[in-house]
Amino acid sequence: MLPSIESIGKSKKLKLSVEAEPLEERLHQILCCAVCLDLPKSAVYQCRNGHLMCLECFNHLLADAHLKMAPSACPSCRIPINKDSCVRNLVVEKAVSELPITCNDCSLEFPRSSQEVHEKQLCQERFSFCTYYRIGCFWSGPYKKKADHEKRCAQPKKNGQEIKQLLPDIFSSAKSSNRKHLCDYLSFEKIAYNDLQFLGPYRTDEFYVRFETFRFCAFGMEWEVRAHVNNNEADPTLSCERTLSYALLLKESVHRTIHMHYTIVKGPLGEMKLYPHIEEFKFTDDTPESHYSLLPLEDSAECYRLLSGTIRFRLIMFWDDSAFVNTSS
Ligand SMILES: [Zn+2]
Ligand SMILES: [Zn+2]
Ligand SMILES: [Zn+2]
Ligand SMILES: [Zn+2]
Repeated sequence: MLPSIESIGKSKKLKLSVEAEPLEERLHQILCCAVCLDLPKSAVYQCRNGHLMCLECFNHLLADAHLKMAPSACPSCRIPINKDSCVRNLVVEKAVSELPITCNDCSLEFPRSSQEVHEKQLCQERFSFCTYYRIGCFWSGPYKKKADHEKRCAQPKKNGQEIKQLLPDIFSSAKSSNRKHLCDYLSFEKIAYNDLQFLGPYRTDEFYVRFETFRFCAFGMEWEVRAHVNNNEADPTLSCERTLSYALLLKESVHRTIHMHYTIVKGPLGEMKLYPHIEEFKFTDDTPESHYSLLPLEDSAECYRLLSGTIRFRLIMFWDDSAFVNTSS
């Protein structure tokens, strides 16, 4: 059957109105993540039916399903999704990297693939500090004015005595923070490390969502690490931020005080982007559980990524036995 003249006219009109939208915008609608509707910034995953999800949203969906102890599903077609059933879509990743983006600082337009180089190295309007900021110059401004400022900057013309007068602040603030240097910990007499993995999540009366390790041995004593999500929030999947806090537990009677410093770092078996930190707790038979301290992960996206899979880490423990010797003598 041939289409009527009228319907041809209608479809032509429809076509024209679609074409009125710029190509970029139409491509944006096709290539965007089905969850956040943004153009993906890194890897793009697709379900078995081809629905696209950016890496962050994919990890977010898997992490939330894991916390709810429910299977994860594609938000578009509800088929089950997991790390085995979903694959990356390299064509979409490459197509997105070719779409134009405008620099917030200089309004120049270029392909997304060159955004990082532009923002960090090429943009003439990018925010920059004076080269002599370490010796006390507080100038900051657009990159194009930096060279001009540095020609006039007073700092490199100052002598050692004058520079020295600017610096005590920096040293006194470093000294006043009463924190030990890593090297101080490394010279402790008793150091132990264990490569561990969180099991769970579990739900208990006391904690909403809890992860825990197997019991492990350090310094001839039994220990365990526990973690909970979003400060033990009832339903952490309702808020967008995700944090993990952890505690160290002594699992036997010791009849003495064990002054322990401990930290979690990325182990050899897992990935984990976290900032250096160190915790301290005095374990006794009355206080066998440390406080919960925040695991200082890089951001919520890193927390989603960890919660979407197996969380492996290395726990390093430094036993400060000197305090015990001093108090008991
Ligand atoms: Zn997304
Ligand atoms: Zn789908
Ligand atoms: Zn720019
Ligand atoms: Zn300067």
